[in-house]
Amino acid sequence: MSALTDYRTVQALLARHHFSFSKSLGQNFLIDPDVCPRMAEHAARGGAAGAIEIGPGIGPLTRELSAQFEKVLAFEVDRALEPILAETLADCANVTVRFEDILRADMTQVLASDFAGMRVSVCANLPYYITSPILMYLLEGRFPFESITVMVQREAAERICASPGSRLSGALTAAVHYYAEPEVLFSVPRTAFMPAPKVDSAVIGLRVRKAPPVEVADEAFFFRVIRASFAQRRKTAANSLSAGLSMPKSAVTDALRACGFSETVRAETFTLEDFAALSERLYNEVERA
Ligand code: SAM
Repeated sequence: MSALTDYRTVQALLARHHFSFSKSLGQNFLIDPDVCPRMAEHAARGGAAGAIEIGPGIGPLTRELSAQFEKVLAFEVDRALEPILAETLADCANVTVRFEDILRADMTQVLASDFAGMRVSVCANLPYYITSPILMYLLEGRFPFESITVMVQREAAERICASPGSRLSGALTAAVHYYAEPEVLFSVPRTAFMPAPKVDSAVIGLRVRKAPPVEVADEAFFFRVIRASFAQRRKTAANSLSAGLSMPKSAVTDALRACGFSETVRAETFTLEDFAALSERLYNEVERA
């Protein structure tokens, strides 16, 4: 099976299987022949033998991963793609497709049973409607992935890869940087997809950290502080935190001042170190109350 990125071939394949795209599952298939090889090559750079793909669609990236890795496991939620993938991956003996929602997969079990003794990388053209949940699922579980190489909307890529404390940063920026070192690898125009989405995309690479860059006493509270800080983007951090943590504003401003901030500071100026210091202060306030 070749030319899985050729527009006419893909159209004919989909028509033969009476397949119709599901917008709600984020189905935009890659039809640019250069993108999948570049993604798979980058994913393979760390030397992992195993690859996990999320959302193979009709399999263009899966085939490239099959060529680069010893073993590939792909999670696809849409069973309508089963007969198509059976055809397009028929000659890829090292690929298994599991028809399961990635967010319901037991990754600890997958790594222990499917990839025992192997280093594993993740590579995917993500369904954009669940970009954040998937990234957080992959990172929060502290799975020992060699690398994570994913296509996301370009705006999401810029946000994720912005430095915490810079203008574009948000809750996802801080959360991702806590677990990994992200970088934008290359941009992909909307015309690279079928059907073409309304926005451009970018491929990002995440190097998973062995240890977090800041130490916090209560990780769950640290993430509550991050989420609450950004929950109301037009408001000051003091107002957002007070509302999000259900704390009196005076307690929040005291904590901000103790950390060297004015009460009009905004969350996008906080670095990870700032969030860590603030969450320790606020945690003490909560404990005291
Ligand atoms: N990899 C293919 C490509 O590049 O052409 C398809 C990418 S398409 C953007 C996203 C894929 O993710 C679709 O095949 C969709 O059915 C699948 N998907 C959506 N939600 C999913 C989920 N929760 N778990 C696994 N796959 C999912």
